[in-house]
Amino acid sequence: MDFHNLQYWQQRALSLKIENRLFINGRYLQAAEGKTFPVHDPAGQRELVQMACGSHVDIDLAVKAARDVFERGDWSQAAPSQRKATLLKLAALMEEHQEQLALLETLDTGKPIRHSLRDDIPGAIRSIRWYAEAIDKVYGEIAPTGHNTLALIHREPIGVVGAIVPWNFPLLLACWKLGPALAAGNSVVLKPSEKSPLTAIYLGDLAQQAGLPDGVLNIIPGYGYDAGKALALHHDVDALTFTGSTLVAKQLMIYAGESNMKRVWLEAGGKSANIIFADCADLDKAAQNAAAGIFYNQGQVCIAGTRLLVEESIQQPFLQALRKHAATFAPGNPLDPQTVMGTLIDDQHCEKVAGYIEQGLSQGASLFLDGRHHPQGQHRSYLGPTILTQVNNTMNVAREEIFGPVLAVTTFNGEQEALKLANDSEYGLGAAVWTSNLSRAHRMARQLKAGTVFINNYNDGDMTVPFGGYKQSGNGRDKSLHALDKFTELKTTWISLE
Ligand code: NAD
Repeated sequence: MDFHNLQYWQQRALSLKIENRLFINGRYLQAAEGKTFPVHDPAGQRELVQMACGSHVDIDLAVKAARDVFERGDWSQAAPSQRKATLLKLAALMEEHQEQLALLETLDTGKPIRHSLRDDIPGAIRSIRWYAEAIDKVYGEIAPTGHNTLALIHREPIGVVGAIVPWNFPLLLACWKLGPALAAGNSVVLKPSEKSPLTAIYLGDLAQQAGLPDGVLNIIPGYGYDAGKALALHHDVDALTFTGSTLVAKQLMIYAGESNMKRVWLEAGGKSANIIFADCADLDKAAQNAAAGIFYNQGQVCIAGTRLLVEESIQQPFLQALRKHAATFAPGNPLDPQTVMGTLIDDQHCEKVAGYIEQGLSQGASLFLDGRHHPQGQHRSYLGPTILTQVNNTMNVAREEIFGPVLAVTTFNGEQEALKLANDSEYGLGAAVWTSNLSRAHRMARQLKAGTVFINNYNDGDMTVPFGGYKQSGNGRDKSLHALDKFTELKTTWISLE
């Protein structure tokens, strides 16, 4: 892939025209109450645009448009092959505009342009394309009944889906929801994060060009406490699909209970353990993966390998290898295609993450690598790779989601201790095990309480496998055919054959 150079992206950024309105019923509109909010570029420390700020009034309009088209059946009752053709067109248009999407994503979040181009945008396109291609291959069932009965079991679209997404992978996570929800025939109201609405709002135009009927996709940037809450409390929304913090996830369950008992699907926080046994075949590879597992995307990854559990006998050589690989994550200008570590989402979040480093030190951890001093030091949103050692499981840095480039290292002796430490968490999103002992790998995989267990890799995977968490990391699963379960109702038709 051609990543161009810094000047190319700087020039494009200067001439960028950014859509800053809501997308409702196939049209771009100002917010009904006329309010706006600023969208910032955390690396350039400048305001990119004033974005229309959706409120409960706009949510009502969007849900009505979504409901009307759902009941008309233009999309919900179309043949799956027809929905497939439209979504494949959308994927092709996203591909055609991938540089524009990648630039918007990098300006909005501070993530490196090479990652937006290589991971975020292609991943988003893959999700739309994967579900488009899958949907005309999903069959219903005939139940094994007696001779005088025919019982059909099939899936129907659930209706109006509210999708609420965070800022760390804005378009990718939105498309993990949009792919299966739209392919299954639903109408969607998408609320992107107020910190990163730009790629979502750009998608409205592409959906229109692809021929998605008006009202099938509506996009409402706005604050969580207003637009997000209104969507979650809405009586005419049939299902909510959410990615974000555990705190807000719990609130959404309350909103569902207070309103119409809409289905609530949650992908929430994580505190994943990356476990390195002394019998790991390739320590250097494990160290490289451990570094990428926590420092990629500036550590703002739900499934980041934030807790490193290393067998005591190999701690010293492992830490040396880790230091070498951490050094490859030097913070730099996100628009430079050479950069592999950009800025955190904003100054406030950066301060929160730095606060965790202080807390760790005050609770007895040691600083093995300090990311608070780096060449981009004049900008407050930059924080380099940081490694805390001598961490134990009672410290806040071992228990709470930091969501930044801070690795907490704890030592263990033997399988049982590793398992106990790894499972001693209120989260259960991911876990990794590095070992050359096949039986140990399987024993650990069976007993780790996590939605995904990686063996001798960290965070590999593709669209074919489900993604989601145990415990307070959420419920339901994104990706794979299992994601369709969230966006469909299962219907039985019991027919008497007289
Ligand atoms: P957040 O929970 O603060 O916000 C997520 C979304 O919810 C935003 O769009 C926000 O506006 C909205 N929101 C906030 N309050 C709301 C309310 N009262 N009602 C309705 N909507 C509301 O999370 P964030 O800071 O944007 O993202 C970081 C979090 O996301 C981390 O905890 C991370 O682990 C999690 N995450 C999880 C996954 C996963 O797949 N499990 C993936 C990525 C991120």
